[in-house]
Amino acid sequence: MDTTTDTVLFDALGLAAPLLKAVQETGYTTPTPIQAKAIPLALQGMDLMAGAQTGTGKTAAFALPILQKLLPFASSSTSPAKHPIRALVLTPTRELAIQVEESIKIYAKHTPLKSLVVFGGVDIKTQTPHLKTGIEILVATPGRLLDHVEQKTLNLGQVQILVLDEADRMLDMGFMPDLKRILALLPKQRQNLMFSATFSNEIKKLADDFLTNPTLIEVARSNATNDNVTQKVYVVAQTNKQALLTQLLSESDSQQVIIFTKTKITASKLSRALQKEGIAADAIHGDKSQKERIEALDAFKAGKITALVATDVAARGLDISDLPMVINYEIPSAPEDYVHRIGRTGRAGASGVAISLVCEEEEKYLAEIEKLIKRSITRETIEFKNTAKKAAKSAYTEDHNSQNANESLSSNRQATKSRQYVRKPSCDPWFDKPYEPSVAVAKPQYNTSSSNKAPVAALLGGLRAK
Ligand code: AMP
Repeated sequence: MDTTTDTVLFDALGLAAPLLKAVQETGYTTPTPIQAKAIPLALQGMDLMAGAQTGTGKTAAFALPILQKLLPFASSSTSPAKHPIRALVLTPTRELAIQVEESIKIYAKHTPLKSLVVFGGVDIKTQTPHLKTGIEILVATPGRLLDHVEQKTLNLGQVQILVLDEADRMLDMGFMPDLKRILALLPKQRQNLMFSATFSNEIKKLADDFLTNPTLIEVARSNATNDNVTQKVYVVAQTNKQALLTQLLSESDSQQVIIFTKTKITASKLSRALQKEGIAADAIHGDKSQKERIEALDAFKAGKITALVATDVAARGLDISDLPMVINYEIPSAPEDYVHRIGRTGRAGASGVAISLVCEEEEKYLAEIEKLIKRSITRETIEFKNTAKKAAKSAYTEDHNSQNANESLSSNRQATKSRQYVRKPSCDPWFDKPYEPSVAVAKPQYNTSSSNKAPVAALLGGLRAK
């Protein structure tokens, strides 16, 4: 999908000069389709239900109109009373909350409007003094917001605009009760902007319950995947997945790959196995402390880690500029997760590759995914090379030790079958060209200077850096 539009320019959207200046400095030339559609409607004060894939520029699509609508209230006074919370952005994860607020700060840099992010997993007392200084735009995860409400450290009585970002994931993560509690605390007269990558019936119900005559905006077919992303499937025995992954990583020039697993345990084991293969890998998942997750992300963004092994929840909302590749080591059982996963690459018009390693047992999930995205994914063939064979052998040995004889025999048969695949002579051109990161938006970095991690880091329990 082309994520920019030739017909509309930012200055035709009715945005104020300080916002246009910030957008220009950020390097954006044309609004993305979601921005072109959402910004004028949001400026008119309409409720929106927007279906936008990850990476389509949806943050600016709500942040810019929010800032514009709050400009008349902007005050350079230091009195907290002059800076009540007027816009509330709710996100499902801490990582997304951080990224959204970083973007808001960038777009607001030529205005006196102030923003803050609050999320769980860190000491609540560190957030309270910042809240007390007064801020117009608060980005929060639902649980921590309610903690602050209970401690009476914030007041939501003047919220004029509410954003539910990645609403589908908020429901998946069980935030519905929290959302209901929060919505009950907000003034009834307000504007609501809801963004969701997928449109399930549950999402439509949420929209019916909380939005007032919403305008539906879709920039791509709901549940669609980004056309900039080349999707491939390698059918491979479970026992050979690790070997194939190692081979794919060693053959690619990529500086950044996110590898998805279904469980924290697999993420942990795989990260360790990749480290043993000499690959700078790390893992993130929901049980990690906020500090560890930020450190791992920063190391990944800085290129100290090339392979980030992640579970769905941990990877949610990550915006790594120009991530060229994602690999599904395991296929998600919820097909919507596939859409979210591969949305990590091919962002804002860049191209990307999404590879899925699919074993026989996972074929049924693949069929569900293909049904959801309304297209079939090309099955590719590949030949294992020597190094990978060695790894395949060790993977088999590990498997053999942990399973009974019959299971091992069938694994062995599968392994033999999958080694018969022949490598296609012409491979994707992406593999041939060196990795060239394009100029990304300069984002403030979290201070992780305390981290003196080795390039091959180990964040999960029981892991040791090599
Ligand atoms: P989002 O979907 O909001 O997470 O945005 C994905 C990426 O697109 C971020 O890195 C943004 O900085 C970038 N982006 C947003 N709007 C534009 C635009 N109009 N032109 C180019 N890049 C953009």
